[in-house]
Amino acid sequence: MAVGNHRFAQLVIDQQAIYENIKNAKHNLPAGDELFMTVKANGYGHGAVQVAQVAKRAGADGFCVSIIDEALELRRGGIAKSPILVLGIGDAIDAKVAADNNISLTAASSDWLEKAAEVLELYPVTNKVKIHLALDTGMGRIGFQTAEELQEAIAVLEHHTNVMEWEGLFTHFATADDPNTEYFELQKSRFTEMMKVVKQRPKYVHIANSATSLWHDFSGSNMVRLGAAGYGLNPSGDVIPTTPYPLKPAMSFVSQLVYTKQIAAGRSVGYGATYTAKQAEWIGTIPVGYADGVPRKLQGFHVLIDGHECEIVGRVCMDQMMVRLPYKMVPGTKVVLMGESNDKKITAEDIAEYIDTIGYDVICGFSSRLAHRYV
Ligand SMILES: *Cc1c(COP(=O)(O)O)cnc(C)c1O
Repeated sequence: MAVGNHRFAQLVIDQQAIYENIKNAKHNLPAGDELFMTVKANGYGHGAVQVAQVAKRAGADGFCVSIIDEALELRRGGIAKSPILVLGIGDAIDAKVAADNNISLTAASSDWLEKAAEVLELYPVTNKVKIHLALDTGMGRIGFQTAEELQEAIAVLEHHTNVMEWEGLFTHFATADDPNTEYFELQKSRFTEMMKVVKQRPKYVHIANSATSLWHDFSGSNMVRLGAAGYGLNPSGDVIPTTPYPLKPAMSFVSQLVYTKQIAAGRSVGYGATYTAKQAEWIGTIPVGYADGVPRKLQGFHVLIDGHECEIVGRVCMDQMMVRLPYKMVPGTKVVLMGESNDKKITAEDIAEYIDTIGYDVICGFSSRLAHRYV
């Protein structure tokens, strides 16, 4: 995808906000606990390598990604030594590229471990591959579900210490962002139960994502996988508004009016002619659309121009969208699709609420056609 460097639309990334969020998160941890910043999906749309560099300065000890390619991007981007953990399940064949680049992998079945060991024993590898075992305590996504399965996996690891190093053990909570803690407690007790078969703990035991680190007791672990909070996003979407430290949103989305005109009463706007002016109105055109990740369902929501909430009128097109202006405005006027304008602001959560999703979905949804500007 061509990146739009010659257009009036950018994601502006406030590096100071990321720095402060991570610094505060680290400060909030028990002494000695490590923080791995989660930079999967291009750093939740903020730019993986850039976020990783800021995170390192703020005290991040390592990184989490979703796929091996994201880990390789960090290594190529200069994150040479910090541990990088791939949280998803990949092809066991890629254990070699992981070992060669000192990338830690998640394993969730003994079969996968056997296959990975087989691959590594075929080739001369410089490093052993580091493995984190995933426990499914109730997320129902990946992981060993019983103590017996876990024991079997540990035995496989012990059988292949020539090519594998058992580095970590983790689980993931499904309801850490919910004020009702019942299911969280159930998962926690299953975790404690499974841990009983672990005689020698690996280097990392980790159970906390942002929500767990903000609102729960995660003792028994020694590393957190911070994601949303590092980007200034409340993982609960403000269902739980209080946080131990302020979360400062790092991403804004700015553009400009490229065209403005007055339309007469009775004239319509956009595909399907879904909006018709009731009186003479000023309409502005913004050069971004759903191909940039502006949700098409945002019709009827608003953008900010000079502190005014301007309604998005007509359907959002692929590359352009129209808004109703409070008065005559000229091309070149700044438009804020997400972020602050005078005393008003639009957060990812605000957009998410309007289209019935979560803030994560909104910030990850902006497309790679949008240029990033780091401030
Ligand atoms: C994405 C992810 C995280 C980070 O979650 P946040 O809610 O953004 O903090 C942590 N752990 C796992 C397993 C994940 O997939």
